[in-house]
Amino acid sequence: MAHTIAISNSKGGTGKTTIACNLSAGLALGVTGKKYKVLLIDTDSQLNASWFYRFDEEDGVLAKVLEGKTPISEAIKPTNIDGLDMIPAEFALSAVNLAMASAKGGTAALAKVLQMAQGYDFIIIDSPPSLDFLAQAILRAANWILIPLEASGFSLKGIEQMVSGFLDVKEKYNPGLKLLGVVASRVDKRRILTKDVNAFLESKYGDRVLRTQIRESVTLAESPSHHTSIFEYDPKGNGAEDMKELINEVLERISTNGN
Ligand code: ATP
Ligand code: MG
Repeated sequence: MAHTIAISNSKGGTGKTTIACNLSAGLALGVTGKKYKVLLIDTDSQLNASWFYRFDEEDGVLAKVLEGKTPISEAIKPTNIDGLDMIPAEFALSAVNLAMASAKGGTAALAKVLQMAQGYDFIIIDSPPSLDFLAQAILRAANWILIPLEASGFSLKGIEQMVSGFLDVKEKYNPGLKLLGVVASRVDKRRILTKDVNAFLESKYGDRVLRTQIRESVTLAESPSHHTSIFEYDPKGNGAEDMKELINEVLERISTNGN
């Protein structure tokens, strides 16, 4: 069975999409030695991860899949990377959230359809910046949650909300859901604030804080507009180095904590 990792934080702009797209690419490209079969799912009606891999609004049918109107096989598209498939998002996903609220058991929809996605080692879900019904559906469908956060005071509020959302879904619906970790992104090691945030995180979340930090990197910010992962766009830079270390740590944590 695939390891399903939700990249989630209800706060916007914390690096979720950047991490989801590059983590998926690196696993499929085999940057740590082994190539994996990966399915990346964009659940955000902003379509950022979809655009990253050159998909557009008309390519997305995830909302119809979640409503049971289209089979998941029609939503899965190959990307330009061998071994990496994608389910792109569409604008209608914002309406799905409301539909999930009114349908009984509505937030189980994603978990149900993902049972039909066979043959993947990893399923990576890029989440919208929200803690709504769709966010709950994502956590019901995942076995791991990875929380990226930016080193700022506001981000710390977001993470507390996110962790309590995670605990709630784990208790009510998905006892197998585990916290893969919290990863600091857009880190500028020279900033005092970054040091304060690190100290706070370590005191509060201990070994759940990943040793990997994704540094602020111009090429990581540029690569989406070239529709290429950091491993192809700037393979020797800090961004590729940090993303590779993240993949190693994710693989290590998954194998140590079992699943
Ligand atoms: P949203 O909540 O809106 O979905 P997000 O959490 O997915 O946002 P991203 O879209 O990955 O966050 O990143 C927000 C912005 O910061 C983007 O412009 C992205 O290119 C930039 N960015 C992300 N990580 C880095 C980094 N390590 N270095 C430089 N820029 C970054
Ligand atoms: Mg995003």
